[in-house]
Amino acid sequence: MTLSATREWDFSSEQGKANYKAAQRRYPAQAIVDLAALRDNMRHLVSVVGGPHSGTAVMGIVKADAYGHGLVPAALAALAGGATWLGTAQSHEALLLRKAGIGPDRCHILTWVYSGAEVPFDELVDNDIDISVGSLAGIDGVAAAARRLGKTARVHVKVDSGFGRNGFTPAGFDAALAKLVPLAKEGVLHIVGQWSHLAVADAPDVPEFVASTDMQVETFKDFTRRMEAAGIPPEIRHLANTAATLSRPEIHFELTRPGIGLYGYEADPAMGTPSTYSLKPAMTLQAQLGTVKDVEAGHGISYGRTYLTPSDTSTAIVPLGYADGIHRSASGFDMEGAKHVTKPGGPVRVMTSEGPRLYRVSGRVCMDQFILDLHGSAAELGIHEGDNVELFGPGRGEDYAEPTADDWGHAADTISYEIFTCLRNRIPRLYEHATDVLSAEDLAKLDPASIL
Ligand SMILES: *Cc1c(COP(=O)(O)O)cnc(C)c1O
Repeated sequence: MTLSATREWDFSSEQGKANYKAAQRRYPAQAIVDLAALRDNMRHLVSVVGGPHSGTAVMGIVKADAYGHGLVPAALAALAGGATWLGTAQSHEALLLRKAGIGPDRCHILTWVYSGAEVPFDELVDNDIDISVGSLAGIDGVAAAARRLGKTARVHVKVDSGFGRNGFTPAGFDAALAKLVPLAKEGVLHIVGQWSHLAVADAPDVPEFVASTDMQVETFKDFTRRMEAAGIPPEIRHLANTAATLSRPEIHFELTRPGIGLYGYEADPAMGTPSTYSLKPAMTLQAQLGTVKDVEAGHGISYGRTYLTPSDTSTAIVPLGYADGIHRSASGFDMEGAKHVTKPGGPVRVMTSEGPRLYRVSGRVCMDQFILDLHGSAAELGIHEGDNVELFGPGRGEDYAEPTADDWGHAADTISYEIFTCLRNRIPRLYEHATDVLSAEDLAKLDPASIL
């Protein structure tokens, strides 16, 4: 009898159950994404901006394979939740969305990362994908493609209001306007939007950061005034990421761009927990235990002997490592180990015969595996090879001992965003509630083997 530390999955059919078993045979860990949670998070974000008729639309940010959740399934769930825009950084992913059959009749798609001469502007314009322009070379490239195709390109003018990444600076903006105005008049470019990105919107309790966001907003509005004065007023403006969508209603403008909120997380644990914002983490990362065995006190665990067992105990192998995207920085050290420092490793929820317990990565994370010190006898605890353990999930309640990606972010000195996006695609992605959330037509866009 194997124990499971995750909740029971809600299978849609016998085929869904068979898909689950097949995924376990294929790989001893699975990332299971609840599409109902994604849809509901988007519904909530839409309600936060005042609902579908508020004059503020919501763009679901699905860059980087939807933060590791799977581009097409996550995009479809976001649309089911009321998003009317999708956004990807890389143009490659914007094109994949259109290729999956998400047409311009359903949503606008914005893309903003490209560089050099070999950019598929033609394909983007041809597929009705909105393109960000934040450099003079970018304007030239988009305009040339639009002329070649004989089709007006939809662009969003990116301004650097203080982030220091993409976009025109206030000093460089006259040169941009000088190029944009005639192209707009000629009908080569349709100036759809003006946009920018915030640097510290996730720290609403740090006065210095609030002041710097206020400055960004003022600078952003100055850019709008300059576009208006030049005769190319933006139809829509957008500035707010998840943090600002949740905490700064005054800068929702005509569109907001939440990413992490769609996946069920707040931007920074300093802001609270997902439940503070009525968000539900959508992904659960689970694995099936490898070798479980007894070892003696003082036994070194993993490379570098950074952890020595403090007493006679049992250990269990979790078959995930840094080649799966488990951060090596989430390794666990103890005082007895070679480093003589205590550093708790990433958390893992394990079911025992006495109920769930939270264990920590013991010793260094290896390429394909890491080890847990079970602090007791596996036989007495009822822990066996093959048991289903949970690295992170929705974080159900304090007493439930269920870690979240924020806890892994803390253990690895990073953020939840990096925890998700580092998960390699050799870990199967499986979708719960796909049949509840998606129409038959959309369901057909998913890999059938991924539907639970
Ligand atoms: C990633 C990204 C977002 C979404 O940010 P979150 O913090 O995940 O909400 C919005 N806009 C731009 C330009 C981005 O790159």
